Amino acid sequence: MTFFICSLRKEINKIMSNIMSIFGSRVFNDTKMRERLSKDTYEALQKTIKEGSTLDTLFLNEIAEAVKNWALEHGATHYTHWFLPLTSAPAEKHDSFIDYSGEDIIAKFTGKTLLKGEPDASSFPSGGLRNTAQARGYTIWDPTSPMYLKTIANRTVLYIPAVFAGYHAEALDRKIPLHRSLNALDNAGKRFMKLFGKTDVKRVFPAVGAEQEYFLIDRDLYLKREDLMYTGRTLFGVLPPKGQELEDHYFAPINNRVTAFIKDINEELWSLGIAAKTDHNEVAPLQHETATIFCVGGIATDQNMILMEVLQTTARKHNLVCLLHEKPFAGINGSGKHNNWSVNADSFNLTDPTDKPEENLEFLLTLACIIKAIDENAVYLRLSASNPGNDFRLGANEAPPAILSIYLGDQLADIVDQIITTGRATKSLKPHTLDLGIPQIGKITAEATDRNRTSPFAFTGNKFEFRMLASSVCISEANIALNTVIAKEFETVCDALEGVKDFRTACLDYVAKTIKEHQRVIFNGNGYSEEWVKEAAKRGLPNVKTYIEAVESLTHPKTVEMFESLNVMSFEELHCRSEVAYENYAKTINIEALTAISMVNKKYIPAVKKYLKDLGGCCVCSEHDAIIAKLLKEAEEKCQNLKSVQIKASRLTQAKDKALEYLNTVVPALTTIRETIDTLETLVAKDYWPVPDYSDLFIED
Ligand code: ADP
Ligand code: MG
Repeated sequence: MTFFICSLRKEINKIMSNIMSIFGSRVFNDTKMRERLSKDTYEALQKTIKEGSTLDTLFLNEIAEAVKNWALEHGATHYTHWFLPLTSAPAEKHDSFIDYSGEDIIAKFTGKTLLKGEPDASSFPSGGLRNTAQARGYTIWDPTSPMYLKTIANRTVLYIPAVFAGYHAEALDRKIPLHRSLNALDNAGKRFMKLFGKTDVKRVFPAVGAEQEYFLIDRDLYLKREDLMYTGRTLFGVLPPKGQELEDHYFAPINNRVTAFIKDINEELWSLGIAAKTDHNEVAPLQHETATIFCVGGIATDQNMILMEVLQTTARKHNLVCLLHEKPFAGINGSGKHNNWSVNADSFNLTDPTDKPEENLEFLLTLACIIKAIDENAVYLRLSASNPGNDFRLGANEAPPAILSIYLGDQLADIVDQIITTGRATKSLKPHTLDLGIPQIGKITAEATDRNRTSPFAFTGNKFEFRMLASSVCISEANIALNTVIAKEFETVCDALEGVKDFRTACLDYVAKTIKEHQRVIFNGNGYSEEWVKEAAKRGLPNVKTYIEAVESLTHPKTVEMFESLNVMSFEELHCRSEVAYENYAKTINIEALTAISMVNKKYIPAVKKYLKDLGGCCVCSEHDAIIAKLLKEAEEKCQNLKSVQIKASRLTQAKDKALEYLNTVVPALTTIRETIDTLETLVAKDYWPVPDYSDLFIED
């Protein structure tokens, strides 16, 4: 026994030291900064990272030299300012460290080069904020997110996280508004803490942990389907006899191929300083989830972008493809992303109810602010989590619904009930002991609150889980939204309570009034049920079914006022984002329409014709053949119809009209042609079917 424990311990130490030696090895992290920078420079940089102070340019050359030397020692030849334009993927342009000294080639990287890159901004979406003739754009180093090294095909590049702005400091990316929202929350949060006499808070910030869902499919099969290649989802396809109904894929043992993949992504993420923590099989066949440990707001966005990229590049190595689309397959679950979010003041979590929430004024006031903020900004928040692909999930008989509501759980629901009925909460439900009555199995303490899987915004112990997010979106949009709406409420509450005589009474009255006024947004039941849709309508909660119909919320006067008053975004920047959303939607659906037309004309129709011909030449001999012949004709007609509505929509020039035209004419045409082709798929012999079907794709070996 002792021998066994000793060797086990050795083994564990080995594993831990492996993780420790890998973790952050490719990041210019705190340890490396401390080792390689002078004390003054290190401290100045830390103050910028941790407290948000401005870094004096006098430190830049030293930082640039240190990071260059570190990168060169690890074989780097290039650097890139890595940024998040308003497309769906990060952007990078590689420059080598090489420079010409006048006589010789040298490796050069100055403070100025570190600070500023200058890509041509004209080809990135700007929603009319700039025209193509105005090309200048700047990528500016974001010192709050660590630099890292990435090696692809033996080339090692230093990645410098950056923001991307136009010539007049307009935000052309997803990070500038995120930073501004973090600062708005910091300012409002410090003001909020002062209400409670806490005047020395250094920073109020969100902690964010994202859980990422995705599908993995075999690359050889993927390459045989244009729809997967061009649109990320199957535009056609019928479920095999067994889908996900037995719920046997959820948490199922992970097979060899996927395990090897997960091992690789874990190691890659750890080396990049990303704390990959949990992996499991998800509900649908081929579906998986990876979660990383939470970190502060801005960095969580970069980490999730890097994670999505690592998933895709690692899949390639295993001859797999990682599908991040929200709905790759009809009839089985789609993918989302859970954005776990808490608000913290230094080391104090404002969203933690603690042992006695009924007495915790900071918590109760924060909760009231969150309830009000969610209720008042429901449509904008719904938009911030969405993209065209999310329309297949939100409001489409799948989780979560498009109606934004808050799940509080038993403990907080009870507190809220007390407040609504008597104006005050005086007691709270406590955690209970779970005793199975089996002496060998220990008793555990169960939380005072159960969980709810159907809520789009669920309280989960000491944080809120925003579950509406589309799997492929950049989480910054949802976090800009959350930070800004709560910052606004912190400011509002400070306006109301600063200087009041009896703070405790005024605070509790404010909590009671706010919760009463906004209780309609609280819902602890089953969010997937039909009854909830009816009940929500009765309560007057918005139920905006499609992404595109929610875009208007970005430029709603109330949203504009909120963003401008907090200096997060100007009207022009918000308008730009709405234009980009409309354009992106139209382009996405256009690609789907063209892909569908191509597949129907070049693959399905010829295959069905051949099948019919082989069955009986020109004569239609059986009822079965007659049905196929009829469907074939229907497919041809529907394909022509799809083509004509696609052409009509593509000719419109005004972004919003165009997007709505795609939504109202092209999307239904895509749906209806799918029905016909899918029916044909059930009737035509498998050998004749021109693409791998779901039963081929769903096999995991
Ligand atoms: P689930 O039970 O929904 O699968 P977990 O409880 O494992 O999720 O946590 C999900 C995410 O929430 C992880 O990224 C985790 O690090 C993050 N998380 C945990 N505590 C906090 C917190 N206080 N603030 C923000 N995120 C947190
Ligand atoms: Mg979750």
